[in-house]
Amino acid sequence: MTTTLDTAPERTTLLPTGLVERLAGLVTAADGRPRQQSFSPFDGALVGEVPTCTADDVEQAVRRARTAQREWAQRPLPDRVAVLRRYHDLLLARQQQVLDVTQVETGKARVNAFEELLDAAMTARYYASTAVSHLRPTRRQGAVPGLTKAVEHHHPRGVIGVISPWNYPLTLAVSDALPALVAGNAVVIKPDAQTPFTALIAIELLYDAGLPRELFQVVTGAGRVLGTPMIERVDYLMFTGSTQTGRLIAEQCGRRLIGFSAELGGKNPMIVLADCDLDRTVEGAVRACFSNSGQLCISVERMYVEDAVYDRFVPAFVERVKRMGLATGLGWDAEMGSLISQDQLDVVTRHVDDAVAKGARVLAGGRPRPDLGPLFYEPTVLEGVDEGMELMRDETFGPVVALYRVEDAEAAVRLANDTCYGLNASVWTTASRGEALAVRLQAGTVNVNEGYAAAWASHDAPMGGMKDSGVGRRHGREGILKYTEAQTVAVQRLLPVGPMPGMPLERYAKVMTAAAKVLKKTPFVQ
Ligand code: NAD
Repeated sequence: MTTTLDTAPERTTLLPTGLVERLAGLVTAADGRPRQQSFSPFDGALVGEVPTCTADDVEQAVRRARTAQREWAQRPLPDRVAVLRRYHDLLLARQQQVLDVTQVETGKARVNAFEELLDAAMTARYYASTAVSHLRPTRRQGAVPGLTKAVEHHHPRGVIGVISPWNYPLTLAVSDALPALVAGNAVVIKPDAQTPFTALIAIELLYDAGLPRELFQVVTGAGRVLGTPMIERVDYLMFTGSTQTGRLIAEQCGRRLIGFSAELGGKNPMIVLADCDLDRTVEGAVRACFSNSGQLCISVERMYVEDAVYDRFVPAFVERVKRMGLATGLGWDAEMGSLISQDQLDVVTRHVDDAVAKGARVLAGGRPRPDLGPLFYEPTVLEGVDEGMELMRDETFGPVVALYRVEDAEAAVRLANDTCYGLNASVWTTASRGEALAVRLQAGTVNVNEGYAAAWASHDAPMGGMKDSGVGRRHGREGILKYTEAQTVAVQRLLPVGPMPGMPLERYAKVMTAAAKVLKKTPFVQ
């Protein structure tokens, strides 16, 4: 495989000691807790140490957050909005150090770290601009027109728990917390053990933007240890991670009857039809499959290409993939960086080797690149994948895509929907045809002539998974109202909603039957 930007591994992973210690000091942990270390995927060097928190630390974090939340909820909404506006500006202004920390901890290309940062800034801007309209009390149609005044209110739930993964450790740590905070809640987060410093630097910037320190608590450690104590104490849980863990979380939230939102795994399809713009589709496919080394919940792992264009699209796509620039380090030159961990490398290697052993053909990539870094794997394109190969249906979560030749759009839609997942899908054709096909796809987001970013970055629209890919939505109205308790206050004037005193009940029923018929015909009554 040819990589244009291959560079020799270099030790670029040391963060300033003062920074690492300052960030570790933000974790809520009793003195003397054992420390746990995280290492850079670029070269295995130590990044730093954070406390290994316990259930007692979680209890303490929730207690502090709950106390701070009472005062925060009383603050005027414009004050809370102002924090988000300042956060937007701070993220952009201090991006260099945030990008360094994100890259060192994840091994991702700088452009992918930047996309995370931009996403967090855009989420802050969106909820700063819309929180007032989402949260303000809203007049609803009352039971008896003219006599019943009904108003919908939204109250903060209290303390929101956030459990976030390692793949987008910056934006997935803060972007779901921002709407919760502006709605008047406190947040306790447990970031993934591999990426605590990225979450911590993003949260430190929120404190710098004026968020009360106690309002956003961080605990670090293993999810299986801290998850249950967190769920036992918070008022709502926002989880992003695997479907397997999502099911465990859902059971625990169910037992406590608290709400939760779960953004889970995917096996996302892309459909390429003969009337697509070929050059644009090739470039879009590269980003859709290999952004963040494929460690992106909404990235494409299956591609259904119409027979009439297959023999033109596939060589162009494969040639472009072979030219992708892989590099280590903190520069802007890499199109694709490292995988994050040995576990990820093992899954990718196992899926590809299993497929190849059972007859799949490698068109590009197909091997690790230890010469670049211990956890690099080439962007890989496979053909001839079928049932019985692990990667046909299981999420790889790495830089691997399987290509399938299909007769027409109907076959592509049928195969795209033949999965337990339903997170994201992508369709490449004319705009109007793409829109018509999109609504037939069982996926929470569908991008027409884009891989994933158009729907994801449309922050005003809901984002989340159908089927095994999730419960609930982030972004848009759903993304903030889920952190609130809806309350209806109804004021009744003059007449009761029921029989008038002394009215015979049968007569009451007749009057109401007649009234119901009139109401149905009255245009402004819903
Ligand atoms: P994971 O489920 O193993 O871990 C995610 C988080 O859950 C981590 O913070 C982890 O510490 C915690 N956790 C693990 N076990 C737990 C338990 N028993 N109780 C409570 N918390 C626990 O997922 P992962 O492998 O780290 O992340 C990759 C997965 O996340 C992929 O499946 C990917 O598709 C999915 N993901 C989904 C989205 C989305 O928006 N839908 C975004 C990113 C990642």
